[in-house]
Amino acid sequence: MPTYEYRCNDCNRGFEYFCRSISEFKEPTCKYCGSSNLERIYSPFALRTETKEFSSTDDLIRDLKKSRKYGEAAKLAKEAGKSEWEIRDLERKAREGK
Ligand SMILES: [Zn+2]
Repeated sequence: MPTYEYRCNDCNRGFEYFCRSISEFKEPTCKYCGSSNLERIYSPFALRTETKEFSSTDDLIRDLKKSRKYGEAAKLAKEAGKSEWEIRDLERKAREGK
């Protein structure tokens, strides 16, 4: 289930928006004040609250690997419950810096 994180520009509160599928996606309104003046938040931290949908985490890890941020990738892999060998591989690369 895709999760989107928004911040309301009117009351400044953040909330998560779930939709069952991409095709069902519609612009949400603030669940606190009903405003549609919202800002979409793109943050790796938003992924922590996700359920078992790891595809976006995979994308993020791949991006981190591409930019050689292996330490961050390893941390994310751990949080996402990735396999031991994948985490170890990333940690080794982080140590070696390549
Ligand atoms: Zn609001």
